[in-house]
Amino acid sequence: MKLYILGCGDAFGSGGRNTSAYLIDTAERFFLLDCGPTTLLAMKRAGLDPRRIDLILLSHLHGDHYGGLPFFVIEELYQNPRGRPLQVAGPPGTEKRVKNLFQLMFGDPSNPKKLPSVEFHILEPERPQVIEGVEVFPFRVPHQVREISLGLKVSYQGKSILYSGDSAWTDLFVTHSRDADLFLCECCFFDRQTENHMNYQTLSANLPRLKCKRVVLTHLGQEMLEHRGDIPLTLAEDGMIVEV
Ligand SMILES: [Zn+2]
Ligand SMILES: [Zn+2]
Repeated sequence: MKLYILGCGDAFGSGGRNTSAYLIDTAERFFLLDCGPTTLLAMKRAGLDPRRIDLILLSHLHGDHYGGLPFFVIEELYQNPRGRPLQVAGPPGTEKRVKNLFQLMFGDPSNPKKLPSVEFHILEPERPQVIEGVEVFPFRVPHQVREISLGLKVSYQGKSILYSGDSAWTDLFVTHSRDADLFLCECCFFDRQTENHMNYQTLSANLPRLKCKRVVLTHLGQEMLEHRGDIPLTLAEDGMIVEV
C-alpha cells in the first residue's frame, strides 16, 4: 500500500503545512485517515481523484482533523457526483457534528439541505470493525477530556498502519505497534510537556519498546520544525509518498 501525506501540520498552520490528512491507496481501496480543512485542495494538487475515496476514517472531532468534510460534500453535490455513498467513520457524535458543520458552512437556514448520500459508522474504542473491506481497530488515546479521541490501527490484506491521531504518549502504542508496518505518530512538540500531545523526548525514550517496522512523525508544530536537524526519524512532509 501507498501512504500519501496530504497534510502533516498542526492546527496553527505551522511551517505553512496543511492540516491532517493521510490517504492510503492499496490499489483496491482508497481511504483517508482524517480530513482537515485543506484535504480536498491537497488531493487535487496531488492529482488524486476524490471520487475514488471509499472511506474516510476520523480519529477525533477537532477542526484540523474533520473540518474538511463539508468540502467533499459540496464537491459531491455540485461538481463531481460519485454515484455511491461516501462512507465516514468516526468516534461517537461524528454524524451530528459533521451535519451541523455542513449546515453552518454551506446550509441555507430557510432551506436546510440533506447531506447527499453519506453513510456514517461509529467507531467505538476497542471494537474492531471491517468497513469497505478495511480492518479498523480503534482505541482511546489521551487527547480530549470529555470527547473520545481515537488512535487507529488499519489493516488491509496483511499490511497495517498504526495512526496515533492526536495524543500524548500512551503504552497502548507499544501494544498496537506489534505487527504494524508503519507507525504514523503525531509529534507536536520537541520537549514541551503537555497532557494531550506527544513530545519528541518522550517518544524517543519509548522508541526501543515499539514493535513496528518504521516510524514517521507528523502533526509537526513550530517547536519540532525548529529542531528538525536534531531528529534522526523520518519527519512527514506534505506531498510525501511512503511505500508500506
Ligand atoms: Zn486534536
Ligand atoms: Zn490536531
